[in-house]
Amino acid sequence: MDPFDETLAQRLGDATAAALAKALGVVTVGDLLHHYPRRYAERGELTDLAALQVDEFVTVMARVDKVETRRMRNRKGSILDVVVTDGVGRLSLTWFNQPWHAKALTVGRVGLFSGKVGAYRGQRQLANAEYQLMALEGAAEAPALGEIDTSSEMDAVSEFTTGLVPVYPATAAMQTWRIARCLAPILDSLENLDDLLPDDVRARHHLVGLREALLGIHRPKARTDVEVAKTRLKFDEAFVLQTVLAQRREAMDRRPAVARLGTGDGLLVAFDARLPFELTQGQIEVSADVSADLAQPHPMHRLLQGEVGSGKTVVALRAMLTVVDSGGQAALLAPTEVLAQQHFRSITELLGPLAGRGMLGGSDRGTAVVLLTGSTPTAAKRKVLLDIISGDAGLVIGTHALLEDMVQYRDLGLLVVDEQHRFGVEQRSALTERGDVSPHVLVMTATPIPRTVAMTVFGDLETSILSELPKGRSSISTHVVPSAEKPHYMERTWQRVREEVNAGHQAYVVCPRIGDDSSPDDDVIEVVDAEGSENDIGTTAVARRPPVAVLDLLPTLVDGPLVGLRVAMLHGRMRSEDKDAVMRDFALGGIDVVVATTVVEVGVDVPNATAMVVMDADRFGVSQLHQLRGRIGRGSAPGVCLLVTDAADRSPARERLAAVAATLDGFELSRLDLEQRREGDVLGALQSGRRSSLRLLSVLRDEDVIVTARDEATAVVLSDPDLIDHQALREAVRRATADEAVRFIDKG
Ligand code: ADP
Ligand code: MG
Repeated sequence: MDPFDETLAQRLGDATAAALAKALGVVTVGDLLHHYPRRYAERGELTDLAALQVDEFVTVMARVDKVETRRMRNRKGSILDVVVTDGVGRLSLTWFNQPWHAKALTVGRVGLFSGKVGAYRGQRQLANAEYQLMALEGAAEAPALGEIDTSSEMDAVSEFTTGLVPVYPATAAMQTWRIARCLAPILDSLENLDDLLPDDVRARHHLVGLREALLGIHRPKARTDVEVAKTRLKFDEAFVLQTVLAQRREAMDRRPAVARLGTGDGLLVAFDARLPFELTQGQIEVSADVSADLAQPHPMHRLLQGEVGSGKTVVALRAMLTVVDSGGQAALLAPTEVLAQQHFRSITELLGPLAGRGMLGGSDRGTAVVLLTGSTPTAAKRKVLLDIISGDAGLVIGTHALLEDMVQYRDLGLLVVDEQHRFGVEQRSALTERGDVSPHVLVMTATPIPRTVAMTVFGDLETSILSELPKGRSSISTHVVPSAEKPHYMERTWQRVREEVNAGHQAYVVCPRIGDDSSPDDDVIEVVDAEGSENDIGTTAVARRPPVAVLDLLPTLVDGPLVGLRVAMLHGRMRSEDKDAVMRDFALGGIDVVVATTVVEVGVDVPNATAMVVMDADRFGVSQLHQLRGRIGRGSAPGVCLLVTDAADRSPARERLAAVAATLDGFELSRLDLEQRREGDVLGALQSGRRSSLRLLSVLRDEDVIVTARDEATAVVLSDPDLIDHQALREAVRRATADEAVRFIDKG
């Protein structure tokens, strides 16, 4: 068995293993070896005590400065007061009725002290701290044990006699030195560790061996050992992940698909002829790449990134028509009902008579377009399913409902997935891994993804980018409205909305919440968003009043600043017919202002809408605001986006909003958004919020490492697809894919 798979119970006994699992969530030897120190304390270099924050759980290196035992005034018992110092600042430690600590804690001794920082009479202190003293200079003695660890299955070892002391992410129940002690026997027996990196790769990139790296990160003699170790272990993270992705690509390339060559005089030609605009250069180029992919007897897997409004749908539709021209069917998967309906409307409109085969006035060259969502009524659904299985429907548009087993295609040639980040990637495979022949897959996203992230999360996809917007698009100006400091700005905001409406335009007002929370949100997208914005706000909370809600705001607008305008609401708890009716009415100009939740975030396309007011804008993520803003300025009139917030001036929330107001560059904003998340959340944030297994690798900053690892991993997989001659790597890949985060990517 691979040594990393061994359980901690086998190595350390059940009690210790249980304590480690509870405190740190580690189960195997590998888990513990990959629980890296957060930092290193240096002997003689004491922790800056001034920086400690009340309520933090800390581990500090300090010197005992003063020891005093007092009797308690009103009760029996004693208090031991110890003051430790970093040479400048002081921190007091207090023990109640544990006088024996005074024996070990003599003035001048240096040690690690850990506990939760409290405040007592304005002084910071640790009550009942745990500690581990450093061995006396030159002494061979083991460190004195401060914790009352009578369960100690392990001997107290003097691993702290060397220069650097690892400080692990620890808890009150599992102090850093106990973690070190659990690691000791494991580190001592790493002798015959099989290295997952092939020797030549290691040599080429000047990386140390795996054993040396693990010793270097857990028991460094000097700072450089840590750096060298981290470089190697970071490379491993990238390398294993890229091996997984390379294997996936390789497996996909082996799967057969039907080449869809199109025809010179079919639907596509007729469609191009009736397009009311010229394709942009980008659309032409990406379309050419896509047709080349479709002509291959292996499935296309292409990611199409493009700013909101860059015209991705037209590119997708042209690919779909190519497939229909070649005798196959194409499906378009949208993340929400509103979007599916809108795609259905705009695609049938773009196709005109070409979408009406079998209907009065329909073209014989055309095909039938069907819509299938969760709320398609049963009778209609039966008809749609028949059209799909008979092949009469060339174009199938819908939501998750398309993924159900009962939806059988006669010949599915292409799957287009819109707004990928809304889907679990598993869902993509639900359609593509049916049967022996795979459909081609085109994934579209308007959330620009930095290159390295794309390489990691979508590492199995080729990427195309539509960077240019169609001509004639007007600009959007964005302003932050600080409603707390300048209440009269709020009046001005509604006045601005009225002006747009008076000029013949329309407006969105977006709120973070539906309101009337008696029934739970049934709209998937809003649940996702609720979590997303929770993450984003963490630090900005002032007084946490509930966010502005559609159901509360709407009546106050109708009776107040927007009196006389035609105002309607749109949110996820409405029945889908009602949502659809509102969207249609809004698109036709029958509604002036829609007060909505983020159901309007993606894809909604009403060119006449020119104003957007986002209430409690600080509750939304940067990329989300950018998406929302993409709903306006889609026509020829300039758009105005007003971000209302009561976050304080110069708060992080305000700075984020200012950044959104300052640029329309989605790539820049998405980078900003990702940078503000904790690193480990980056992969999850792009997907559905799951945890990442990457510890050292930063998908944003480590572009070089990722690129290099990708090249090396690809080469290994090409020469040895099943990793027969790369045992240790195969094991590492197996472990990584058992990990949820990677399994998630892996199934894409
Ligand atoms: P995306 O999905 O990338 O946000 P869409 O495909 O919805 O963008 O396109 C936005 C709008 O621009 C649609 O109304 C579409 O018909 C229109 N459009 C697409 N391509 C062009 C073009 N080349 N010139 C003018 N308008 C275009
Ligand atoms: Mg779109």
